[in-house]
Amino acid sequence: MDTILYHSTNRGLPGAAAAAVPFREALLRGLAPDGGLYMPVALPRLDPSRLAALRDAPYARIAFEVLRPFTAGTLADDAFLRLCEDAYDFEVPLEPLEEGAWILRLDRGPTASFKDFAARWMARMMRELREPGRETTILVATSGDTGSAVGEAFRGVEGFRVVLLYPENEVSAVQKRQLDGIGLNVRALSVAGSFDECQALVKQAFLDPALAGLGLSSANSINIGRILPQSVYYVYAWLRVARDGGPFTVSVPSGNFGNSFGGEIARRMGLPVARLILAVNANDEFPRFLGSGGYRPVSPSRACLSNAMNVGNPSNLARYFDAYGGTVTREGAVRKAPDLAAMRGALESVSIGDDETVACIRETWTRRRVLLEPHGAVGVAALRRLGAGPGPSVCLETAHPAKFPEVIERELGFAPEPPEAFRRLAEREPAVQRIPATYEALRETLTRNA
Ligand SMILES: *Cc1c(COP(=O)(O)O)cnc(C)c1O
Repeated sequence: MDTILYHSTNRGLPGAAAAAVPFREALLRGLAPDGGLYMPVALPRLDPSRLAALRDAPYARIAFEVLRPFTAGTLADDAFLRLCEDAYDFEVPLEPLEEGAWILRLDRGPTASFKDFAARWMARMMRELREPGRETTILVATSGDTGSAVGEAFRGVEGFRVVLLYPENEVSAVQKRQLDGIGLNVRALSVAGSFDECQALVKQAFLDPALAGLGLSSANSINIGRILPQSVYYVYAWLRVARDGGPFTVSVPSGNFGNSFGGEIARRMGLPVARLILAVNANDEFPRFLGSGGYRPVSPSRACLSNAMNVGNPSNLARYFDAYGGTVTREGAVRKAPDLAAMRGALESVSIGDDETVACIRETWTRRRVLLEPHGAVGVAALRRLGAGPGPSVCLETAHPAKFPEVIERELGFAPEPPEAFRRLAEREPAVQRIPATYEALRETLTRNA
């Protein structure tokens, strides 16, 4: 197998990085030097006979088969298989929703959101491929699930320390407990400010020459290491529900579009995804774009119950544009229009408001005894609106209902049973530092603890 190289989504723009780079460089850099996102230059094909042999294989084995070509030339096969087994040591249940439809629960990892799938794999790959002897500081501004997934994934990993900034008044009680309780080499900073201020502080730190010695790195979904592992559960779901090998339909609750882009990659590798539905909340810039062909970010983004999807200008839009022959900047300026007809043929997108989200949580519980939280409910409501099939339909549930006890309790009258992972949290000492929303305070903290 030839080594797969990665190019920038800014290719073709003036000042763009010309050369494609190997996986290790794309992973450790995160962002291409021209500010674009890395994309595989070519995709491997899923071999039908090899796939058939994986029908009942454990998740980690499927991850190994799907991801091996992307990382060829880095780890030996047996080391890479062990890495996948270590990353995916939890269950991945498919729960029947109704005739021909399933819920894929991606919430059984240590932080109970689907972000564990990518964060755990990426952290382990970074550990294996990092420059020996070089310390890396991962700096993340988070409004919820990303920070805890990344912190938990790097917890205790030698050569890394993680600093998580979150807005003290914009995270839920459960999320705060998750962020504060990681400990070891992971430090939570509760910032007296908004999420936007946290992001601005992180941005400033990356530009500060005085911090060059810290080896700062980011771990948000711009990193290709966060995208590739998200293609695996599409293959896994298809193997389990499309027993005849025919096409299937997937609905994906979407914010920054990293999750759904994993599905796009799987389809381009040959997985028979008949329909890929990008279900969004009231932040409807993408369905409007598919309808009109004109792209306009939603700014400021709209606050919805599915708060991890309150995104008015998805960062992975650049990857979708690139995949369909277009170019869009990170600010959302279209430089070259993509093939809109091809996009409309391959992708569907629909906006689901909070009322419909809540109605879906209620209906799915009373009629089917299937418990959803707001993100997953957006996905199920989108499938209801657009219709199921062809083939089996799979709705991704991206978080555990116990992360949203307030909504569930208000709508259904009971508190969801916490997952195993939350019980472990209760045993940890919270370790958090409160800082004002100033750059001096962040720099002080970063350098003092280096
Ligand atoms: C991050 C997140 C999403 C959105 O995923 P994207 O990859 O950004 O589209 C959806 N649901 C939950 C629970 C999340 O944490």
